[in-house]
Amino acid sequence: MRPLSVRARLTLFYSLMLTVVLAFFGFLFYKSLGLVIEQRLTADLRERAVFLTNHERVEDGGVQLVFNPNDREEAYLVHSAARYYQVFQLPSGVLLVQSQELELLGAQLSPDAVRSLARAQEFSDMQLENERLRFHNDVISKDNANSYLVRVGIPLTPADDAQRGFLRSLLFLVPVGVLLAAVAGWEMSRRALRPMKSLATAARQIDIEQLQERLPTRGAGDEVDEVAQAFNETLARLENSVGQMKQFTASISHELRTPLTTLRGEAEIALLEARSVDEYKLVLASQLEEFDKLSHMINQLLVLANAEAGEIEWTDQSVDLSDMIVSLVEQLEPVASVKGITMTTTAEPHVHVCGDASWIERVVLNLLDNAIKFTPDGGNVTVRMAAKGAEAALSVQDNGIGIPAEALPHIFERFYRAEPSRSKQIEGVGLGLALAQWIVEKHRGRITGESQLGKGSCFTVYLPLDHSPNL
Ligand code: ADP
Repeated sequence: MRPLSVRARLTLFYSLMLTVVLAFFGFLFYKSLGLVIEQRLTADLRERAVFLTNHERVEDGGVQLVFNPNDREEAYLVHSAARYYQVFQLPSGVLLVQSQELELLGAQLSPDAVRSLARAQEFSDMQLENERLRFHNDVISKDNANSYLVRVGIPLTPADDAQRGFLRSLLFLVPVGVLLAAVAGWEMSRRALRPMKSLATAARQIDIEQLQERLPTRGAGDEVDEVAQAFNETLARLENSVGQMKQFTASISHELRTPLTTLRGEAEIALLEARSVDEYKLVLASQLEEFDKLSHMINQLLVLANAEAGEIEWTDQSVDLSDMIVSLVEQLEPVASVKGITMTTTAEPHVHVCGDASWIERVVLNLLDNAIKFTPDGGNVTVRMAAKGAEAALSVQDNGIGIPAEALPHIFERFYRAEPSRSKQIEGVGLGLALAQWIVEKHRGRITGESQLGKGSCFTVYLPLDHSPNL
C-alpha cells in the first residue's frame, strides 16, 4: 500500500485530535449540564418543601394544607408547590393524600418503601413511565401515634431535556465541525506545502553542470526557507568541492604531463642514434629524477586519499618537538645551502607534544621545504619554537616571494597553488599545506599562515603540550 502523503497525514491527525478533544469536552459539559440543572431543581424543591411546611397543619388522622382561599396569590403558590404532593400515614404506609398529577402519573409506593423513605432519605428520585421526579421526604408528627411522611416532588424533565438537547446538538455539530476543520486543514496544508513542491521542482533541475544555481528563498524565515537555505549551503559546499576537483584534475594533468613529456622527449632523443654507455647513463639518471618527482606527487595524493578515507594509523606518544626540529633543520641545511639560504633555529629545549612523530615530522618538513622553495637565493629562513600556555608554537619564517593577499585564504585548500605561473619552475602540486593542516587538526592543533607579497611568509603550528607525568 502506498504510504499516505504528508498532507493527508497532517489532515487526518488534525481531524482525529479535534474529534477527541471535542468529544471529551462535549462529554464533560454534557455531564455537568445535567448536574447543574438538577442542583437548581433540588434547591427549588427544598424551597417548595419549606414553603408547604409553613402551610401544613397536623391533625388527628391527617395533614391539612392551610391557606386563605381569598388570597389569590397565596392560594396559587400553595397549589403550584403542591402539584406533586403525597402524605402517607406512618408506620402503616397508607396513602392519605395525593395530588392529582401524582395520581395520574401512577406514583405508587409500597408500605415498606414508605417506611424506608421515612427513616433515611431526605431526597429520593422516582422514575415513572413519562416522568422522572425528585422528592423531598419529611416526617411530621403531632404525637407518637400520629406521624406522617410528607413528600413534595419536582419533575427532573428540564435537566433531562437540556441534556438530551445538548447531546443532539453535539452529535450534529461535532461531525460537521470536524468535517469543516478537515477541509480547512486539507487546504491549509496544501498552501503550507506548496513552497515545498516548488523547492522540489527547482531542486530537480539542478545537476552537476549547474551547481552555481540556488533554490529561491521567500524571505519568510520559516521552515521552508530553512530547508532551502540548508540545501543551498550544501550546494555551495558541493560547488566548492567540485571546483576543487576540477582544479585538481587540471593541475594534476598538467603536473603529470610535464614530466611525462620530458621523459618521452629524452627517450626519443636517446633512441635517435646509437650512443655510448655513458650517454645512456646520463639520460637514465635524468629520467630517474623525473620518476622521483612523479612518485613523490603520487605518494602525497595517496596519503591524502587514505587520510580522508580514515585509513591511516596513528601512534600516540610523547614527541620531543625541540629535538625533532633541530634534526630536521640539520637535514635540510644542505638543500638550503645550495641556494645560499641561511637557516636560523631558536628552539626552547624539551618541549613535548603528544602525537605521531612521523606525521608531525611531515608537517615540519613541508613548512621548511616550502620556505626554502619559495625563498630566492641568499635569503633567510628562521625557525622558532617555544611553549606558550598549553601549546607549543612552532613558526617557520622566510623572507621569500610571499603570497598575494587574495591567495592567502586558499593556500590550505587541496591542489591550490598561488599564482601557478610564478611558481611554474617551483615543484609542487598544492597538496603539502592541505595535508599539513589535516595532520595538525588531527593532533587537536591549528596552523596559520601570514604573508606579505615580496617580503616573505610565516607559518605557525600550534600543538597541545604533553603534560604526562614521566616528563
Ligand atoms: P606546493 O608547495 O606543493 O605548491 P603547498 O600546499 O605546500 O603546495 O602550498 C600551497 C601554495 O602556498 C604554494 O603553491 C605557494 O603558492 C604557497 N606557499 C606555501 N608556502 C609558501 C611560502 N613559504 N612562501 C610563499 N608561498 C608559499
